[in-house]
Amino acid sequence: MSSDEAAKVDAILKAVRKEEGNKHCFVCHERGPQYVDVEHNVFVCTLCSGILREFSFRIKGLSMSTFSLAEAKALRGGNDEARKTLLQRFDGNAPVPGEKDRIREFINDTFVKKRYMPRSKGRAASDDIDPDTPPAKPKKPDAKPKAKPARPDSSDEEVEVCFSRVNARHG
Ligand SMILES: [Zn+2]
Repeated sequence: MSSDEAAKVDAILKAVRKEEGNKHCFVCHERGPQYVDVEHNVFVCTLCSGILREFSFRIKGLSMSTFSLAEAKALRGGNDEARKTLLQRFDGNAPVPGEKDRIREFINDTFVKKRYMPRSKGRAASDDIDPDTPPAKPKKPDAKPKAKPARPDSSDEEVEVCFSRVNARHG
């Protein structure tokens, strides 16, 4: 990254961190979030960033990571913008700082199951499938022949060939 680009990234990050919505953790509203979930572009606290990591979401520390220009630009809007989609249908109580179990459940509902997202707006139908339901397993092709071929009682060569093929398959 050129120094010019790095300066742009710095300026964008500074600006987005000043936005009111980004001064609190997206999940638990802890003050002064120090991490960013760069998959959802939300600002989160140390505890919530650790739990998001458990779910394999990509986390970057604001003070210790290098952000690309694209990543910095994607952060514009931040928590407020993400709340409009990810939490559009959420009307319960968000977890409070330190409530580890509630935070884990909330993160699972919000980011994994996407339970609070609008149902119809430009989402693929597959996103509406409840992830709790295991995907249907493909049916095993029925390899076994229904009945054992009768022993050829003639010396007809063709029957003999068929029979040996069947035996070979069962080998
Ligand atoms: Zn938090």
